[in-house]
Amino acid sequence: MTHDHRLLKGSAVRDRILSEARAYVDAAGGSEQIGRLVSISIGENPEVGVYVRNQARGALAAGLRFDQQLWGDEVSQDECKQLILEMNDDPNVLGIILQRPVPDHINVRSLQSAIHPLKDVEGMNPSSIGNIVYSDVALAPCTAAASVEMIKETGLDLEGLEVVMIGHSEIVGKPAAFLLMAEGATVTVCHHMTRSLAMHSRRADVVVVAVGKPNLIGPDMIKPGAAVIDIGINQITSDSGKTKIVGDVDTDAVLEVAGWVTPVPGGVGPVTVAILMRNATVAHQRQKAAGWLD
Ligand code: NAD
Repeated sequence: MTHDHRLLKGSAVRDRILSEARAYVDAAGGSEQIGRLVSISIGENPEVGVYVRNQARGALAAGLRFDQQLWGDEVSQDECKQLILEMNDDPNVLGIILQRPVPDHINVRSLQSAIHPLKDVEGMNPSSIGNIVYSDVALAPCTAAASVEMIKETGLDLEGLEVVMIGHSEIVGKPAAFLLMAEGATVTVCHHMTRSLAMHSRRADVVVVAVGKPNLIGPDMIKPGAAVIDIGINQITSDSGKTKIVGDVDTDAVLEVAGWVTPVPGGVGPVTVAILMRNATVAHQRQKAAGWLD
């Protein structure tokens, strides 16, 4: 039996968010009127290259200019910080994206803190993260926000819902838990020290997983009808030697019991890029409100 209708793909959500962003940009006078997004990659990295290309495509769809900068891996921390501070002061820069990973001699958290909060389209500045605690969630980390969008797409009302968040990283799990609380969900956060993961996940209406372990979540861990949001991205090599990308969920098996499962690839990932563009429009609104723009 196939359960394809239970596969919750990200493409429709991505397209909707990108067209909303496009409408905002058009209303603000189009791409030449609105500042550009600057993507900073430090040192070459093939994985980062894939993200950047996807973001460039998203920006094009949203009508935003996208300036891809590749800084050599010999660049110093001080030089990076100086360049970022100059972008903070440049009215033609709408938002700054700092691609990760960075070389070992670069302190990524310090650079994230150097990005002005009003240009922090990734929602990674400590003050953006702090705002989330106060339920000011408009500039949230993109992947965490994308997982909430995917839950909303099921039509489930998050108020009072039992959500189990598996993974508690600064980038995904912790901010996602706060966003879900802001939506009124009852949130349990599990991590590598959690004693019985299945005991928690089995009573959840929604399971969100961001760990980085293929097949961590099997069908015996899911309540019938629950929604399963798979954030994991893992490259695996099959017996035939081919590599492919999978999530943290044993998707085919979990589809037999769950109400919805997001596929990997094609689930949360495309929505994450669209949220980055939505964040850019929020940054524009806030810069205007702060009197930075005409
Ligand atoms: P991380 O390595 O920083 O954190 C992993 C988390 O998993 C930690 O909280 C750890 O406690 C928990 N964990 C580890 N083993 C566990 C276990 N056996 N049971 C329960 N919890 C366990 O990872 P991250 O940066 O949060 O990324 C997680 C995954 O999400 C990765 O696969 C990453 O590639 C992916 N990711 C996807 C996107 C996207 O846009 N879809 C964005 C960022 C990260």
